[in-house]
Amino acid sequence: MYRYDNGDADVVFEDGSTLRTRAIIMGVGAQPNVEWLATSGLEIDNGMVVDSNQLCHDRVGAVGDVASFPWSGATHVRIEHWQVATDHAGALARHWMTGEQSPALIPYFWSDQYGKKIQMLGHPRPDDDVVRVKDTGEGQWLGVYSRDGIVTGLVALNQPRALMLSKPLLEQPTALDEALTTMPWAPSPTG
Ligand SMILES: Cc1cc2nc3c(=O)[nH]c(=O)nc-3n(C[C@H](O)[C@H](O)[C@H](O)COP(=O)(O)OP(=O)(O)OC[C@H]3O[C@@H](n4cnc5c(N)ncnc54)[C@H](O)[C@@H]3O)c2cc1C
Repeated sequence: MYRYDNGDADVVFEDGSTLRTRAIIMGVGAQPNVEWLATSGLEIDNGMVVDSNQLCHDRVGAVGDVASFPWSGATHVRIEHWQVATDHAGALARHWMTGEQSPALIPYFWSDQYGKKIQMLGHPRPDDDVVRVKDTGEGQWLGVYSRDGIVTGLVALNQPRALMLSKPLLEQPTALDEALTTMPWAPSPTG
């Protein structure tokens, strides 16, 4: 990166091309520290691999940032958010105390940034489709993610009520078209 006196910077990419920028946002990731478990016999793959009850072994559970847990049937994900850690802990404690199977967890996070509340439900992939609804034009909106026509997640900027009302959309597979016509935040029909 080359920095100019006026604060601009040239970002140099791996292929040698450059991009002049005014501001740079850096996303700093985290890596689970699980090397010490390498010979434990537990399955380690981007964290400690657990089942839907947060178990990686009959008597070993893992919760929160270090746990790679089943999401949406097919895949395992590791999510670094407070509410996920709390929900994991509740699920594991309930299972160990009662033997009950834990219901599927719906990932949720919030973050307050510069007076704005950002919230997300679900775990959409970067290439999911997204449509923006309930947009006031004043920095308040709800984004609805979908894949193959099924809702996969929601993200809200200063729309906490709309987001929370949307949780049922992820509790069972819901068609995007249905969400866009039946939810309280659905756009008004036109024409
Ligand atoms: C800067 C920052 C901002 C964040 N902002 C948000 C946000 O806005 N919203 C949100 O939802 N999430 C946010 N997060 C993520 C959130 O903090 C984590 O997802 C959450 O704390 C995970 O909880 P945890 O219990 O899994 O892990 P932790 O909170 O990391 O707790 C793990 C504990 O284990 C201890 N430990 C580690 N190794 C050992 C060992 N070998 N022996 C004994 N103890 C050990 C650690 O010291 C630590 O106290 C943020 C994280 C960071 C770093």
